[in-house]
Amino acid sequence: MHEMGIAMQVLEIATASLQDAVKENPENIRVEKVNLRVGKLSAVVPESLRFCFEIISKDTVLSGAKLEIDEIPVTARCNDCGEIWTITGPVFRCRKCNSGSLEILSGQELDIVSLEIAD
Ligand SMILES: [Zn+2]
Repeated sequence: MHEMGIAMQVLEIATASLQDAVKENPENIRVEKVNLRVGKLSAVVPESLRFCFEIISKDTVLSGAKLEIDEIPVTARCNDCGEIWTITGPVFRCRKCNSGSLEILSGQELDIVSLEIAD
């Protein structure tokens, strides 16, 4: 499953970024939420990602943390006419001049925006 690999990446990055906090207070740290930005082009199904994350985060410092997934739409710019628009279907052609020469401006993100730690 595609989402499993992504969930593992998220866990790895989040764990690394928590290292200092864990050193200071290893007993009591509890992560409430992981805020993610996921581009639609990554074809992640949020429900599957949450499910995978729940499984692999068990017995880690991120156990019980919820994934808050912000889906970023795919926007493109036409290299021929400069049109910028949001792609909603599987068609990767300029909606104005039908050119196939596009630059993807957003939609490929896979970022951890922040972690919310419970008091
Ligand atoms: Zn165009």
